[in-house]
Amino acid sequence: MTSFKDLGLAEPLIFALEAEGYTHPTPIQEQAIPQLLEGHDVLGIAQTGTGKTAAFALPILHRIAGDKRRAAPRTVRHLILTPTRELAVQINDGFATYGRNLRFRRACVFGGVGQGPQVRALNGGVDVMVATPGRLIDLMDQGFVNLSAVESLVLDEADRMLDMGFIHPVRKIAALLPSGRQTLLFSATMPKAVADLASFLLRDPVRVEVTPVSSTAERIEQKVLFVTRDNKRNLLRDLLRGKDVERAIVFTRTKHGANRVAEQLAKDGIPADAIHGNKSQNARQRALDAFRSGEVRALVATDIAARGIDIDNVTHVVNFELPNEPESYVHRIGRTARAGAEGIAVSFCDAEEVAYLRQIEKTIQQPVPVDSDHGYHAEPVAKLFASGKGSPPKRNSGGGRPFVGGSRPQSGGNGAGRPQGAAGTGNRPKGPNGGGQQRAAAGASAGNGGQRRHAAGPGGHGHSKRG
Ligand code: AMP
Repeated sequence: MTSFKDLGLAEPLIFALEAEGYTHPTPIQEQAIPQLLEGHDVLGIAQTGTGKTAAFALPILHRIAGDKRRAAPRTVRHLILTPTRELAVQINDGFATYGRNLRFRRACVFGGVGQGPQVRALNGGVDVMVATPGRLIDLMDQGFVNLSAVESLVLDEADRMLDMGFIHPVRKIAALLPSGRQTLLFSATMPKAVADLASFLLRDPVRVEVTPVSSTAERIEQKVLFVTRDNKRNLLRDLLRGKDVERAIVFTRTKHGANRVAEQLAKDGIPADAIHGNKSQNARQRALDAFRSGEVRALVATDIAARGIDIDNVTHVVNFELPNEPESYVHRIGRTARAGAEGIAVSFCDAEEVAYLRQIEKTIQQPVPVDSDHGYHAEPVAKLFASGKGSPPKRNSGGGRPFVGGSRPQSGGNGAGRPQGAAGTGNRPKGPNGGGQQRAAAGASAGNGGQRRHAAGPGGHGHSKRG
């Protein structure tokens, strides 16, 4: 089995990993780290929970370890762009942890807080900057940061970045970077817009992929509970009172819904808090801290707010409302079963949501087992689901979009139903998020132009060749 030492990482990093108790690289680390150390651009298809932060942080830190030069004032050597503040903080923490035995300067830059400390951190120049695009552009426009010395760019969660409308800021930032930089793009999914961005940013990238989204699901006990909309509140209360529920993330489709559910739970005597984009950074951080410490047992969240949040020991994920994008279901339930743990994902499904459930089952290529053994089981909803009827999903106004990239797996399209064990990559993923199932949607993504290992990139994008 490959060890971190086999990957050729510098000793101070190996010691830090040992201190963290990481014995072996995860599949994405095993695949990406050697390529990055060799200087290749990398297109990484992996979701949160696979160990992707260390997959890009370790090669950057390795480079810092072997190079005593430091950044000039207001310049940045390694830039990591990420969509949300929470992710920025998490990635910055990752650099601190893995780089604990190195001397280097970091800055973490995101909106919603005063810029003074961020500006001061940048003044002396930084080796690593983790930033959300909006605040970075603000700081650039004011002349506080200069990107002309960037050696490597990491674009994290590119699909979410585009969902959140960051395409123009990302392109604007990328245009200011030296053409000889190394670039890494990570995305959980590869819809066409991401593939286009990848071909704009990356030069002759190596594609590494761990897409076992359905295998995440294998370590998660999934259940669907049919219930009327009116009874969801009571069902949630009863469920969360269960002794086995130590830490639950409860998902709603809207920010308003998240607030309402958190308030109802609090009234029902269950310590709960909500996180979503309308809350201040401080309020979100407080809620996360309280959840981590166990003071709050239920964290009610919208998809975007919960995306990428790294909290271990989440015993339950509850879909109070099913997502209207099946991919979100996979991301949501991946919040439990982190780093090899097991978890339970409970989905409430009312009459309006049966079509969402069908789409989800198609995406994960397996039925979600029905649990009718609860006080609010709604047999008419179960029958509606079984009948194959039910209204098509209503899209949230403006927020909905068809299945990611329009690459919905066609049922039976591969003639084999569930592609169990279909070899996606030579490396059968194991460890966090491991498993070997090839996802039909990911297979389709290659047709979207994702597979560009040696593609020259039509029209070029101005990157000079590196040695
Ligand atoms: P990420 O996908 O970067 O959010 O990482 C998911 C989780 O896996 C985090 O809690 C990491 O601390 C943990 N992790 C990352 N790499 C390893 C490893 N090689 N062994 C064990 N845990 C890891």
